[in-house]
Amino acid sequence: MSVAAADARIRRLRPPKPRVDPYTAHGALVEDERRPDGRRETALTIFLAGAECPFTCSFCDLWRYTIDGPTPPGALAAQVEKVLNASGTPLPDRLKLYNASNFFDRRAVPLADRDRLAALAGPFAAVTVESHVNTIGTETLAFARSLRGRLEVAVGLETIHPEASRRLNKRLELPRFDAAARLLAENGIDLRVFVLVGAPHVPAAESVAWTIRTVEYAVTRGASVVAIIPVRGGNGEMERLKSLGEFSPPTLAQLEAALDGCLQFTGCVVTADSWDAEQFAPCDACRLARIERLQRINVRGRAESRVACAVCGAA
Ligand code: SF4
Ligand SMILES: [Zn+2]
Repeated sequence: MSVAAADARIRRLRPPKPRVDPYTAHGALVEDERRPDGRRETALTIFLAGAECPFTCSFCDLWRYTIDGPTPPGALAAQVEKVLNASGTPLPDRLKLYNASNFFDRRAVPLADRDRLAALAGPFAAVTVESHVNTIGTETLAFARSLRGRLEVAVGLETIHPEASRRLNKRLELPRFDAAARLLAENGIDLRVFVLVGAPHVPAAESVAWTIRTVEYAVTRGASVVAIIPVRGGNGEMERLKSLGEFSPPTLAQLEAALDGCLQFTGCVVTADSWDAEQFAPCDACRLARIERLQRINVRGRAESRVACAVCGAA
């Protein structure tokens, strides 16, 4: 099937998109994060509303947070200003501008807005934006130079399982990932990587092993931080793949095993994304304690024994 046909099929299966106001961010949150040198920092993430990503990854649900058409000039700066004006002092160490797309796609972040965003990010020691590896290049380096703080670019590597990687419809080639990682490193820009657990087309029994292998791949390419993301259903395509036996929704046990298996890696912070993780654990008796354990490991980076549960047998 051609890429265009795959895009069209994935889009056809999507449920209706909520109305999104391009002048109001979806939300913001402050979290404690660990860095590879052991430092703890506070990070303010702003979830921005803007144009949809031109890629159409099969597992993606970020399009829900996007508008139809390009981001209006000035809209992103207005969103960031509103959040910063409502934030207390002192400001956190890091500002994450997550626009549910690619920061270096001019349709998503108009070129004229980048200087304004760089100025708004002035008080922060570090800034994180997200991008597909295919849109990392000279404009990334220019944005890094315009910042007072240090730039970090977050990219989705997802999985290095060869068959799954090809079928995610992400158009991500590993040599391109490697080149982008090198470019960032050579220019003093940090790399944050997203890796999936429960990626479609990876057999469920191999899912954790492939997640750990993919995290290791990112670590060897210089990633500072790797976040393990459980694949969430609900976009139509995941339900189609599930009905074909090509997707098994991940479990909390797999997320736990993947994180535990990645604590061996040094020089990089590996975390498990626990947002909405309740959906992956059916057991009322242990769900909360297990999610809290993941959150503690995320911040401390120290192994902890698993939560044992007499009700579901988790151990
Ligand atoms: S590149 Fe990222 S934002 Fe774009 S479709 Fe893929 S997962 Fe979604
Ligand atoms: Zn239980």
